[in-house]
Amino acid sequence: MEQQEKIYDLIGVGVGPFNLSLAALLDEIDEVESLFFEQKEAFDWHPGMLIEGTKMQVPFIADLVTMADPTNKYSFLNYISKNERMYQFYFLQRLDIPRREYNDYCQWVARQLDSCRFQRRVTNIRHYKDNEELFEVEVTNGENEKTEVYRTKNLVMGTGSVPVMPRSFQDASSEDVFHTADFLPNQDRCRKANSITVVGSGQSAAETFRELLKEQRDCGYRLDWITRSASFESMEESKLSLEHFSPDYVNYFYQLPQKQKDEIFANQGLYYKGISNHTINDIYNLLYEYSVGRKDLNVGLQVLSEVKDVRPKADGGYELECYHYQKKEMFTHQTDLVIAATGYKPFVPDFVHHLEDFLEWDEEGRYKVTADYRLVTTEETANEIYVHSGISHTHGVGSTNLGLSIHRNKVIINHLVGREVFPMNEKNIFQSFTV
Ligand SMILES: Cc1cc2nc3c(=O)[nH]c(=O)nc-3n(C[C@H](O)[C@H](O)[C@H](O)COP(=O)(O)OP(=O)(O)OC[C@H]3O[C@@H](n4cnc5c(N)ncnc54)[C@H](O)[C@@H]3O)c2cc1C
Repeated sequence: MEQQEKIYDLIGVGVGPFNLSLAALLDEIDEVESLFFEQKEAFDWHPGMLIEGTKMQVPFIADLVTMADPTNKYSFLNYISKNERMYQFYFLQRLDIPRREYNDYCQWVARQLDSCRFQRRVTNIRHYKDNEELFEVEVTNGENEKTEVYRTKNLVMGTGSVPVMPRSFQDASSEDVFHTADFLPNQDRCRKANSITVVGSGQSAAETFRELLKEQRDCGYRLDWITRSASFESMEESKLSLEHFSPDYVNYFYQLPQKQKDEIFANQGLYYKGISNHTINDIYNLLYEYSVGRKDLNVGLQVLSEVKDVRPKADGGYELECYHYQKKEMFTHQTDLVIAATGYKPFVPDFVHHLEDFLEWDEEGRYKVTADYRLVTTEETANEIYVHSGISHTHGVGSTNLGLSIHRNKVIINHLVGREVFPMNEKNIFQSFTV
């Protein structure tokens, strides 16, 4: 074990966009000594879903820094300028940049930040009181598998989310039945399959289906899309609905009783779970084009049907046991490959649960979070754990939104530094959520 002497002000766990934004904003604040650890070899944002043609669901202004400080050198526009693409971007005339470009931009930022350390997996965290009250952070260095130990006054958790695979899908071979998060590494395999079924109807499902549909005529496979939803629902994208992704709505939501928050959040799926209108249009246009002069497209779109089980067949391929819950009828569906577009869940590493006695938990076993994004502790302490991940139950529907994460980082930095580095506006939107 290598014990580091230095005591940091802040150590971050995970370098996804949320902590990368924090690292970029802190880069200009000399009074904070920070380090951010990421287990991957380099920054890489949902690599299995960087399908060509997919675009960001937030405008490029929601980059890592601009909404906190438009003059910051890590802005998207500075990335464009330094890469000598200003005129091309100017003539492109788009706010919604390609997802691959957002990843490239984030990599450009990450490469410049000394505070971001890659191939470093945080394996344990301990809070201790000797002469000083601190956190001890154990990190595995992926280059030599040695354990390094760091000390810090504060922590920030940015461990993101992990793909969810239904229990009934998990017994099948992962080569044939995989999550959309692994789509691109498996795309070649899809091209060689006789039949493919996408299960689920969120944005990832639609993007995967659209990509497979584009290649379907050349590759010749049968393509099916099955969802238990009543329709292929579009995401709520009207401008006044988007105001739910504002600090004003977060502040309103935060002060509601927990039971009410849970009820409201459960009914807000279409703000973030549905399909973007442009993706549905692309799919419909493709289907329409393909239908010219052809009766059977060899494509199926099935709603109201839940896949209950995935069973391997003796002669290869899979039989899906499905249930149409309005007709109350079971039916089966045959396919070679299954792509589960079954969503993501927040990732809370085990070592956070090991801090069980130090942290306060609600009746559902979720940690409690203050309005300014600190985990609530059971005892008075000078050390804070700030948190980005797993806070939808406290801060609502915008918790995983890239634009709002910059606001969160402003709040975190102001608290950490103990002064208003970033001024906060009371009113940011047109509508009022409270009286
Ligand atoms: C395909 C896809 C597209 C999306 N597109 C948009 C969009 O257009 N607009 C929008 O607002 N939102 C979007 N989202 C939602 C959200 O912005 C993203 O999920 C975003 O990646 C969240 O950032 P993050 O930093 O919390 O987590 P992540 O990007 O998940 O990063 C967390 C990181 O923590 C690391 N980590 C975890 N545990 C440890 C550990 N113990 N030690 C070291 N490292 C660790 C992981 O390796 C990972 O790199 C999208 C989500 C998905 C899945």
